Amino acid sequence: MKFTPTKSAIYGETLDSLTALLKEHGQPAFRAKQIMEWLYKKRVSKWEEMTNLPLAFRTWLAEQFEITPTNFVLTKQSEDVTDKLLLELGDKSLIETVIIRAPQIGVGQEDSRKTICISTQVGCAMGCKFCASGLEGLKRNLSAGEIVHQLIQVCLQEDARTPRARAELASFDNIVVMGMGEPLHNYDAIIRALTIVNAEWGLGFGARRITLSTSGLVPKIKQLANEPLGIRLAISLHGATDEVREQIMPVNKKWPLAELIPAIKEFNEKHGRMVTLEFILIENINDSLDQAQKLRDIAIDLHAHVNLIPYNTVEGLPWKRPSNNRSERFADVLRDARVPVTLRREKGHAIDAACGQLRLKTEKTRQAEAATSA
Ligand code: SF4
Repeated sequence: MKFTPTKSAIYGETLDSLTALLKEHGQPAFRAKQIMEWLYKKRVSKWEEMTNLPLAFRTWLAEQFEITPTNFVLTKQSEDVTDKLLLELGDKSLIETVIIRAPQIGVGQEDSRKTICISTQVGCAMGCKFCASGLEGLKRNLSAGEIVHQLIQVCLQEDARTPRARAELASFDNIVVMGMGEPLHNYDAIIRALTIVNAEWGLGFGARRITLSTSGLVPKIKQLANEPLGIRLAISLHGATDEVREQIMPVNKKWPLAELIPAIKEFNEKHGRMVTLEFILIENINDSLDQAQKLRDIAIDLHAHVNLIPYNTVEGLPWKRPSNNRSERFADVLRDARVPVTLRREKGHAIDAACGQLRLKTEKTRQAEAATSA
């Protein structure tokens, strides 16, 4: 389950950690700044392109650090507005990174903004019953460098789409940590990665435009509340009572609503930001008017925004999407109480619950090919 790469990814180093590391090897502090500038401002992907570094030092860096911790495999564009990038890691594991061109998610406005959704684990241990990413359990955590490098890959793919124009990360409106994996289950790596994404010397992307989505790991939500990073929080609720939530989210057995809700309040109090409640609507599971009323009460109590996401079918799973009418009636209960609510066609934690399917299909094809050639 644990992958120990022979070299650590340079994209997982902070300015401080790299400065300290280089100091141990007799290099002056300004070298770390030069490297960060090459990686994040000039965005080179080869050591030999860092032309203001001495040749011997570049050779040493290449021996110590991996500069391409993810490799691009393919892009899949759906007929709607998402581009899924399939990326391969050093141990051949596959992850998905998604670009959503419209509508915006996580903040509650309908417009044509660009959002990037990143993954934090290969697979997921949380076992949400509706999700493709969790179907085969957790394979391993991503390193901070693998998390950050997904954003570099997105920029490179955008460059390829619009030749001559360099895609700046700043041209994206939001980053959502809602892809494969439970980010708070890989806490240290995600905090380190987001620190790099946010830092001036790093990708310089504003923390207020970053949303982390969790299935509800209560102690980690409390820990996150004390981090200086001012990111936004989204909770994958998907059930407004323990009874319903437990049916589809095993995490609720460990941390039921009576523990989750105070933890969200604690985050709210420390950060003063509106939390988003994600709620995937699944036919005959959580789409009753009773659930809508209970969700309304929770949202009022938390001053939260609600994202309703009619379920997107996952191959091999029995769940269905409710009719448009039923979804609208559910949303009306919240609208009538003036709860800020967005009813989306799809997209939520694990992006549309179908997130992970491209990876699963590709892995199955690879296994079949390996079996044939064996
Ligand atoms: S919905 Fe999120 S937390 Fe649940 S299994 Fe899927 S990736 Fe994991």
